[in-house]
Amino acid sequence: MAAVINVNGRINNERDAVISVLDHGFLYGEGIYEVVRTYGGRPFLFDRHLRRLRRSGLMIALHLPFTDAELAARVRDTIAALHGRGPRAARHEDVYVRILVTRGVGELSYDPASCPTPSLVIIVKPFVGHPPEVYERGVKVALVPIVRNHPSSVNPLIKSNNLLNNVLAAQEAFRRGAFDAIMRNHRGEIAECSISNLFIVKNGTVLTPPLEAGLLAGITREFVLEMAPEAGVTAGEAALRDADLLGADESFLTSSTQEIVPIVQVDDTPIGSGRPGPITRKLQALYRRKIQGLARWD
Ligand code: PMP
Repeated sequence: MAAVINVNGRINNERDAVISVLDHGFLYGEGIYEVVRTYGGRPFLFDRHLRRLRRSGLMIALHLPFTDAELAARVRDTIAALHGRGPRAARHEDVYVRILVTRGVGELSYDPASCPTPSLVIIVKPFVGHPPEVYERGVKVALVPIVRNHPSSVNPLIKSNNLLNNVLAAQEAFRRGAFDAIMRNHRGEIAECSISNLFIVKNGTVLTPPLEAGLLAGITREFVLEMAPEAGVTAGEAALRDADLLGADESFLTSSTQEIVPIVQVDDTPIGSGRPGPITRKLQALYRRKIQGLARWD
């Protein structure tokens, strides 16, 4: 993997990067994160990721003791360290960046008062995307029985390091040979995938479950909703049930690292023609064009 990892300002390789086992991130899963990738050395919608990191922090009463500019500088230092270590050719490679903030080191107690300083970890590694056929042929996903966290429990709006709900769903999907899992909410409505948001296309309209269904406010999801009119497509939010998904003309999933991935099968049921549909393709193309103009650091 050859990652470079910045732990509270100290940059190391993946073997030597360490954090205390008394960090409440490790002990209690008390932390938040963001993931971005770069395009030509620059991230896409980075400002929105930083805003969401702060919103996640607020939802677990974790104040982030650094400015956006300080955080961006630390991310850039870490990327520079990765490029500095690699062969010259690697310097232009795009990278995966994971930013984690945890409660910090404290007593064996849930009381955050014993943790004076949050820990800030930045993991940077060369970006390895899916093979082209994932985008060209589409993927199979599994509708799994693991219910997405109830919004009044661990709210899925918190981009939390506490990912057991997602991991259990993904495990079930992998057991079934699927690319990702689709989870329903406590009412039985479709919520999202284990690591991405879900969309369907029906009669020319693009639909995704509302935030109220209990899901992460994906930045790619939001951007797809915003840009759809430019592709001549109507897009909006709607509560979706299994029948809506299985009877859809097209479906796709979205995330910052995966962009727009066509879904062509849900368990044994083909979606639409069983091939990526025309609206999904249009959105994929527009999204890639947008990246060219908008990838930047501020
Ligand atoms: N839902 C979940 C549960 C996720 O982990 C992710 C990946 N961050 C997403 C949706 C997609 O979010 P984004 O578009 O902001 O990457």
